[in-house]
Amino acid sequence: MPMQQPLEPSAGGAARRAPGGLSAAARRYGALPMPALDWNAQVERETAPLYARVKTVIPAIEWPFFAPYVKAINALKAERNAVILAHNYQTPEIYNCVADFVGDSLQLAREATKVDADIIVQCGVHFMAETSKILNPDKTVLIPDPRAGCSLAASITGADVRLLRAKFPGVPIVAYVNTSAEVKAEVDICCTSSNAIDVVESLGADTVVFLPDRYLASYVAAHTKVKIVSWHGACEVHERFTAEELRRYRTDDPSLQIIAHPECPPDVIAEADYTGSTAGMIDWVRRRRPRRVVMVTECSMADNVQAELPEVDFVRPCNLCPHMKRITLPKILDSLLHLREEVAIDPAIAARARRAVERMVNLRR
Ligand code: SF4
Repeated sequence: MPMQQPLEPSAGGAARRAPGGLSAAARRYGALPMPALDWNAQVERETAPLYARVKTVIPAIEWPFFAPYVKAINALKAERNAVILAHNYQTPEIYNCVADFVGDSLQLAREATKVDADIIVQCGVHFMAETSKILNPDKTVLIPDPRAGCSLAASITGADVRLLRAKFPGVPIVAYVNTSAEVKAEVDICCTSSNAIDVVESLGADTVVFLPDRYLASYVAAHTKVKIVSWHGACEVHERFTAEELRRYRTDDPSLQIIAHPECPPDVIAEADYTGSTAGMIDWVRRRRPRRVVMVTECSMADNVQAELPEVDFVRPCNLCPHMKRITLPKILDSLLHLREEVAIDPAIAARARRAVERMVNLRR
């Protein structure tokens, strides 16, 4: 098996800083001065409707720290003609108070194709920002911290995919969107956890190579007749959950509902009442309104859904994604002020990756 790659983004997709510290985007649009970040009665008044959205998950004592950033970021978005796309794993003050669009990878990829803005600020991890850039080559795509990687994206390179192609000639290759642009450029089609089974079956093949998540691959294999050849990657957050801890929760409260993400190991999924993508899990809780539920996924998502559904009691086995948590309000503000870090992808790689992403986005089943 090939060596695991480091978590930093690959050079092919790395953000670029122009000489002298200014990003290329800052030279195009100009940097802006730092706004005032004082907490005062006016800021309190202006941000009160936003605090009302998160008051069940952000203590009042913490709001004076967040509110000046929330106000400044929302003003800068208008000034920059920028939008913020935020993944479901972002913290509540980002997800509920500054994001224009929220969702899972597929929802964000779709939104990225529709945005009417000059600048996209991606609050998520690096492969998500790359996907936005792939779909919006003429827009400026920023990620507030380019070190926000992903253990799945880091588990495989474009060279690895070329080796798989040579080993399995004629077999279609599907890549989970949690991959770098250079990997997407080598595959036939991308998928997310929402549409993985549909994508695999859309190919009309007996066998499909599915990468890089071995657990999502085994989940797909359990729900299709197509033979799945998997890679050895794993999400460092979801693989930490154990079936035993879920059984303990169930013993303590037999009425507890357990819903799990398909990046979890198979014995964890076997304990779940429902398995689906982050968007699927949120929909499930919205529709079913369980009295108590445990979302077996990154723990910020429970906070975000709790803010919307205060009557549901969320049990929180807190597994944080350290990469998602690199994105903070101060870094988003810095990103909008100085237009960094800009995501740049070799145009030839981006064009090939776009084919695989658009094939997924356009799939209708
Ligand atoms: S939660 Fe897992 S799959 Fe998602 S970004 Fe973090 S490491 Fe990657």
